[in-house]
Amino acid sequence: MPPPPLPAGKSLLADWKSPVIGGDHRHHCRLRSRRTASQVVVSSLPQRPVRYAVLGAGFAGLSVAWHLLKESAKELDVYIDIYDEIGIGGGASGVSGGLLHPYSPKAKLLWRGAECWKESLKLLSIAEAAISSGESNSEMEESGPNLSEFVVRRRGILRPATNMKTLTTLNDNAQNCLSSCRIETIGKDAARSLVPNLCVPLNTAFYMPDAVNVHPQRYLQGLFLACKNLVKELSTSGFGRKELYLHKKSISNLLELEGNLSFC
Ligand SMILES: Cc1cc2nc3c(=O)[nH]c(=O)nc-3n(C[C@H](O)[C@H](O)[C@H](O)COP(=O)(O)OP(=O)(O)OC[C@H]3O[C@@H](n4cnc5c(N)ncnc54)[C@H](O)[C@@H]3O)c2cc1C
Repeated sequence: MPPPPLPAGKSLLADWKSPVIGGDHRHHCRLRSRRTASQVVVSSLPQRPVRYAVLGAGFAGLSVAWHLLKESAKELDVYIDIYDEIGIGGGASGVSGGLLHPYSPKAKLLWRGAECWKESLKLLSIAEAAISSGESNSEMEESGPNLSEFVVRRRGILRPATNMKTLTTLNDNAQNCLSSCRIETIGKDAARSLVPNLCVPLNTAFYMPDAVNVHPQRYLQGLFLACKNLVKELSTSGFGRKELYLHKKSISNLLELEGNLSFC
């Protein structure tokens, strides 16, 4: 039986705090308005390397690293340094329960829940594909679990109603669930066929068959591997050079990162 969902705003893996990204702010503007920026780069400016520092190798930091690689203009040289004092999954991400769905504990669809759900599933399959590609590297071997095992531990999350007030709220919210992440209202017997001996005091439970329980460390290791694979792929595609490094280092002042941005 997975641990109970987290409070609102924390129950979706994609609902992460923004990490600190060091770097020249002009590069962020370039990334945001990619089409315009790359036209400018190609037509008039000499191509200068873009260097990013990402602080933290948890859900947020690795997702940012992936998207920086994916969204940067192909012709640019992009260097990404990830700093984490412990390593991949060294913070909350590594110890999280890994419950992934787009709802609050009261089954209310979270802000931008549909979009986050879709993107989170995409990242999960990217991590899984990287793991099944079979490549590994020294940073991962040091800290990582056995990557041959699955990223998704289990499918389906069950939540029994525990009092009349939550029952009514859960019932109402469940009516507005996403078709891609359904919430079914089921009785005690059906709930116990999923989780034997489950306590279902009000004979009603809410079942999300599409929700997943992720192994957070494996997911993070897989996403990091996917970033490394993407770096290789982009660097051999004849466009700009891409590099990605993970530094096991504590950062006490953001100015330390600025000192490393030698190309800005
Ligand atoms: C026990 C527990 C269970 C949870 N269960 C769930 C769940 O089931 N579902 C869910 O959606 N959410 C869950 N969460 C919440 C979720 O884990 C967090 O919201 C998420 O991990 C935040 O990701 P992050 O990348 O922002 O932070 P983190 O994963 O904490 O990453 C920050 C990283 O930065 C590094 N760092 C920090 N300061 C420095 C520094 N000065 N220098 C260098 N490195 C530094 C840390 O080592 C860390 O690796 C849970 C949280 C906990 C604690």
